[in-house]
Amino acid sequence: MASSTLTGETRRSALAEMTNGLDVLVIGGGVTGAGIALDAATRGLQVGIVEAQDWASGTSSRSSKLVHGGLRYLQMLDFHLVHEALTERDLLIKHLAPHLVKRVAFLYPLEHRIWERAYVGTGVALYDALAGLAPGKRAMPLHRHRSRTTMQELFPDFRHDAAIGAVQYWDATVDDARLVITLVRTAAKYGALAASRTQVVDLTKDATGRVDGAELLDLESGERLTVKARHVINATGVWTEEAQALSGSSGGLKVLASKGIHLVVPRERIRGDVGLILQTEKSVLFIIPWSRYWIIGTTDTPYEHDLRHPVATRTDIDYVLDHANAVLRTPLTREDVIGTYAGLRPLLQPGTKEGTSSAKVSREHTVASPAPGLVAIAGGKLTTYRVMAKDAVDFALGDRAARLPSITDRIPLLGAVGLRAMHRRAHRHAARYGWSKAMVGHLLHRYGAMLDELVAMIEEQPDLARPLEHAPAYLRVEVAYAASHESVLHLEDVMLHRTRLVYEVPDRGLAAMPEIVDVIAPILGWDEERRQREMESYTQRCEAERAAEETADDAEGERVRLRAPDIVAMRPLPTR
Ligand code: FAD
Repeated sequence: MASSTLTGETRRSALAEMTNGLDVLVIGGGVTGAGIALDAATRGLQVGIVEAQDWASGTSSRSSKLVHGGLRYLQMLDFHLVHEALTERDLLIKHLAPHLVKRVAFLYPLEHRIWERAYVGTGVALYDALAGLAPGKRAMPLHRHRSRTTMQELFPDFRHDAAIGAVQYWDATVDDARLVITLVRTAAKYGALAASRTQVVDLTKDATGRVDGAELLDLESGERLTVKARHVINATGVWTEEAQALSGSSGGLKVLASKGIHLVVPRERIRGDVGLILQTEKSVLFIIPWSRYWIIGTTDTPYEHDLRHPVATRTDIDYVLDHANAVLRTPLTREDVIGTYAGLRPLLQPGTKEGTSSAKVSREHTVASPAPGLVAIAGGKLTTYRVMAKDAVDFALGDRAARLPSITDRIPLLGAVGLRAMHRRAHRHAARYGWSKAMVGHLLHRYGAMLDELVAMIEEQPDLARPLEHAPAYLRVEVAYAASHESVLHLEDVMLHRTRLVYEVPDRGLAAMPEIVDVIAPILGWDEERRQREMESYTQRCEAERAAEETADDAEGERVRLRAPDIVAMRPLPTR
């Protein structure tokens, strides 16, 4: 299957084409908006999607990266929700994105011999049973009870006296930002018009008062344009209330933000082959094997500060370290933490605002119509993005939805078709370019069958086959491909979202930055002045984030973080 290419040029022409009118305009390029764009495009609708920052800049690049049913919802006896999420997990790993979504085993440590083993064992057996309801062969192995000895073999750095054994079960992980860019590119392949760094700054209405489009601000050029659409869908996560208020109606969803942070620790620092799920006083803490690292998190604290740049403060970092250290043989220190990130959960508040015409509510996400012509969707999880997208488009279409049902359960994402054949061919590429087995695994995971496109670029320019000198986990061709195919407009798009160097290496990728700029500048047409500006901006961003990690609370963290201006800033929207 041919892929699609997103560049500055396709962005400009997409914006121009949007002004001819759309069936659906999607506001927000996180996982929810990207899923909606794909859902609407594959129903044959003309859809446009705009994102004010880079794709996935909001919550969708800052999650725990789990594709999971959520064991803790079983404790709340929410079987429907767990079943729905497990069905989506199954679909993603088997059909839609087998390259991006990977199985991971977890240990649920037990402190009490009889009753806890029975209680947790029953819960996990139910988890397996709900997963088994999905059609076809099981995507995951069944859970296993583990003795303390086996547990020590699986996780040697688990403190010996912290558990009497464990229950082992399986879930999955995904690079969240990569899922989003792959969704956007897949949507574009089916005809969606996509533009990042484009903010909706107002909504327009027809003579009857129905929302019939939006005013867009192209944040790159400063140009304003008006786009008419039969349906406007607001998928802006923690910005939901701000965007829906543009309709002038006081109706809509009520969404608060809650902050969750993660720490990144090098894989070799903790000896273990599986992940851990640990109960905390509030929720759960995961220690997740992810690529060359462990991701440890998360927290859950109310948040009322800047929505663009939440940070992990010293207090947050110490909280996570304390909880992880309660079970680790050799305690982690601040020096072991090579990166941190913070995200905001869009927490739906009960009920909708006065004036909302109708609403469909699931326990996790809600779709509502704050004003005629405008649909808002919020809540949910990365895992259930597809169901959320389907619900939002169904809701917008109303009666027409029956004639144009969603088909995204049968639409593999880019890179999924031809994956098995690519797995078999990859060793030839490895032999030709001297790539290790780990590198081939990394490439197949990120690009799937699209790996051929990167190989074609290497054939044109052989030096792209080399690893980046100061970030050897990535090849030069990956940053070139990001610039030529993956909608990169700025250096930070590469550092934060196409690669995750910002938290994968202790220097946040600063040593690799000049080489990355050398590779992408010719593709993006940057002159010397632009190269310097991009590097200066990213360096300032890193310094501000590093300083914010030393602050005690969110107020101070915000003040310190905002010292670094954005390379392209979202505009404050009028409050009505
Ligand atoms: P966002 O990703 O925030 O996207 C909204 C977008 O709208 C933003 O990119 C923003 O820039 C854009 N926007 C805002 N205003 C405008 C405007 N006016 N014009 C244009 N664009 C605009 N889920 C899981 O399934 N598994 C997990 O392991 C998991 N872990 C999590 C851990 C944490 C700490 C958090 C916070 C969440 C986690 N989640 C997880 C939940 C999941 O990450 C979110 O539900 C999901 O990412 C929300 O996506 P979204 O698209 O709705 O919002």
